[in-house]
Amino acid sequence: MIAANNIIDKMKNQKINYDRVMRKMISDWERQEERPSILIHSCCAPCSTYTLELLTEYADVAIYFANPNIHPKAEYQRRAKVQEDFVTAFNEKMNTNVKYIEAPYEPHKFMKMVKDKELADENEGGLRCTACFEMRLELVAEAAVNLGYDYFASALTLSPKKNAQLINELGMEVQSIYNVHYLPSDFKKNKGYERSITMCKEYDIFRQCYCGCVFAAMQQGIDFKEVNKSAKAFLKSCE
Ligand code: SF4
Ligand code: SF4
Repeated sequence: MIAANNIIDKMKNQKINYDRVMRKMISDWERQEERPSILIHSCCAPCSTYTLELLTEYADVAIYFANPNIHPKAEYQRRAKVQEDFVTAFNEKMNTNVKYIEAPYEPHKFMKMVKDKELADENEGGLRCTACFEMRLELVAEAAVNLGYDYFASALTLSPKKNAQLINELGMEVQSIYNVHYLPSDFKKNKGYERSITMCKEYDIFRQCYCGCVFAAMQQGIDFKEVNKSAKAFLKSCE
């Protein structure tokens, strides 16, 4: 199974286009008549839409919902439920067999990491986000090893608000620690982001109003009472 380094090492001295790297890897799978298994980290449904549409054509895919950063718990549960429901609806419509796997919710681990590294006061997009991306990439890499997937990946590169270059650099670093290949990506490219908006409408997907952690939400002035109320009402409507 091809590793991203085989392609990236030949691109020295140029800004790496990770979408191109992924497409070259896909071409290699096709040439070798391989259909790899990929465990993709996602933190709510929107970024997984186009990601699944693209990758299920070439690979057996599972979504890994591992997000200790999301606060409060009811909002975590809502995003997990919306993600799982989207996977089910996608499978029914596209006749695919995408799996949904959820990690245990362990917010204390995220809070401890932020405290230990003194990242609470960072702005969104700063060092706390770097550590948060890395933590979740490590969770998905570890799960990919334990569950026997060929690759791990991140759906977050679909979001224009997330630094895809940084996520991919971290993914390549994490790959060197775990015994599993990283699949680089920049899913927003080739009109991927636009396609995700269309798909969110098609599948009537809830879009969250803040990234996930308590720190960024407070900076943004999010009303947690309101978040809790609407998340709990949503979860009740699903019973
Ligand atoms: S990056 Fe934002 S929009 Fe994308 S899955 Fe995560 S929370 Fe959702
Ligand atoms: S703003 Fe988002 S990416 Fe950054 S630390 Fe918070 S949850 Fe993680």
